[in-house]
Amino acid sequence: MTKLLEGKKGLILGVANKRSIAWGIAQSAAAHGAQLAFSYQGDRLKEGVEELANTLSGSLIFPCDVTNEDQVDALFAGIDKAWGGLDFVAHCIAYAKAEDIDGRYVNTKLEGFNTALDVSAFSFTLVARKAEPLFEKRGGGSILTLTYLGSQRVLPNYNVMGVAKAALEAGVRYLANDLGPKNIRVNAISAGPVQTLAARGIAGFVDMYKAAKEKSPLRRNTVPEEVGDAATFLFSPLSRGVTGQILYVDSGCNIIGY
Ligand code: NAD
Repeated sequence: MTKLLEGKKGLILGVANKRSIAWGIAQSAAAHGAQLAFSYQGDRLKEGVEELANTLSGSLIFPCDVTNEDQVDALFAGIDKAWGGLDFVAHCIAYAKAEDIDGRYVNTKLEGFNTALDVSAFSFTLVARKAEPLFEKRGGGSILTLTYLGSQRVLPNYNVMGVAKAALEAGVRYLANDLGPKNIRVNAISAGPVQTLAARGIAGFVDMYKAAKEKSPLRRNTVPEEVGDAATFLFSPLSRGVTGQILYVDSGCNIIGY
């Protein structure tokens, strides 16, 4: 197998456990020769993330809650100290309060709206800004985030998360324009429904999961490994002409109109 990321160093934000899409991305990038840094959100996830990260040789591990800018600064300072630069970043983070991903969107309160937009959309801009000087040291870079079709269409209970993903996708385009002159590419992968910790928080997720399988052209659900391989493409020189894009890795589900 040709190793597409040999000699490259990347940061993966958002591994919670072995079902996380972020872990699918990490496994593909590592199989393609990349050395990885991981961040985890709080002590609750520390041990599990360390256990996974330590299955890959040379991994770095840092705590980072993206709502705490000091922790984001410490993360990038730690990576800079260890590696002196960075080639790619996967931002695989989203959060909304349970009450805001259930029932009627119209009931969303300002606090819940701000929380969802802060963690799920603004944090990508923050991470891109902090990564910029490290990418520059390597002559460019590639950063991606994960989004979902609920940004474009109304899906039951996705609610404020759909609004956050719409902001996130617009952010991808503005960041791509800002960072492109420095040879930094910015993209998103829109994944089909995957059974993860975050997904299980969405009311009625199982129905969405089943419908995606029945309706999608490939007649199967998306798995983290497929998202991981698409991410490896976006991190690698094979995608050197691609920026500001939303790449659907969803068994084709997004083209179906019924
Ligand atoms: P997951 O629960 O495995 O990952 C979500 C991660 O977000 C966790 O690691 C959690 O710790 C992290 N996180 C939440 N708030 C944070 C904060 N304040 N600071 C730092 N980290 C924080 O679930 P997942 O489904 O793998 O989610 C990863 C991304 O994929 C999310 O953006 C999600 O919206 C997106 N996505 C998921 C699906 C799906 O069906 N699972 C589909 C499309 C897109």
